[in-house]
Amino acid sequence: MHFCETYWQTARLRRDKVVSLHRVLSVTQLTAGTCLIRFTREGLAYQSGQYLLLGIPGGDLREYSIFSRPQDSWLEILVRVIPDGSVSAQLARLTPGDSIKVEGVQGSFTVPLDCEHQKFIFVATGTGIAPFHSIVGDFPEIDYQLYHGVRHASECYAREAFAADRYHACLSGECGGVGTYAGRVTQVLYDVSLPLNAACYLCGSCDMIYEVFAMLQAKGIPRAQIHTETYY
Ligand SMILES: Cc1cc2nc3c(=O)[nH]c(=O)nc-3n(C[C@H](O)[C@H](O)[C@H](O)COP(=O)(O)OP(=O)(O)OC[C@H]3O[C@@H](n4cnc5c(N)ncnc54)[C@H](O)[C@@H]3O)c2cc1C
Repeated sequence: MHFCETYWQTARLRRDKVVSLHRVLSVTQLTAGTCLIRFTREGLAYQSGQYLLLGIPGGDLREYSIFSRPQDSWLEILVRVIPDGSVSAQLARLTPGDSIKVEGVQGSFTVPLDCEHQKFIFVATGTGIAPFHSIVGDFPEIDYQLYHGVRHASECYAREAFAADRYHACLSGECGGVGTYAGRVTQVLYDVSLPLNAACYLCGSCDMIYEVFAMLQAKGIPRAQIHTETYY
């Protein structure tokens, strides 16, 4: 299976073209290349784990996972500016009061409503932490272990939103401190023992998803328990 291809085929087919204009409330710079954009909700209903298509009015649209919780009265997304990218750079230049165009709510990277009765393994790279931030905020009792692959500790966005004994930073670019592993998230997962009945959710780069998917299967986790959201 090629995750990138399957994602693009299904995502384009699912667009339902419900368009709304929202007002930017704040833009918080988290690192030199990543910001958190908060904007008005305008009554948009969604489930934690889903994503939006958005951009500036008149411009192209891209997919962004919803970082905020369904209980919040605003919407938030985490944007990493891609060098030579178009939409991410436009979004990062927004300021409070600007308009943002949203086209529909998409995606099935969600957990069941009775998720408190199950174990979850969450694996993210970079801004792929966004859907997990929304899910954990939505279901505070959920039983999860989250492995977050980033280069540097400064990219552990919103780490404080996760319980310290459930959040595992995997730093590929440095040796971190307490609660962190040195090494890529795939290396770290290879060494840990995982419950075989856990539901596994992988979000971020295609390379990570491909490697982790194969590793989980090799460890004995059935394919039906593995869910993916591929960013690029
Ligand atoms: C379901 C889904 C949810 C997503 N959620 C988020 C999110 O929450 N936050 C976020 O920042 N991005 C997210 N993305 C990626 C986002 O949609 C854009 O692809 C990204 O912002 C680049 O858009 P751009 O117009 O700036 O770059 P483009 O002009 O489209 O070109 C970007 C180039 O960079 C590559 N690229 C795209 N994203 C990345 C990346 N993160 N790192 C390195 N290379 C990349 C692309 O493959 C392409 O070759 C998500 C993608 C999908 C499919």
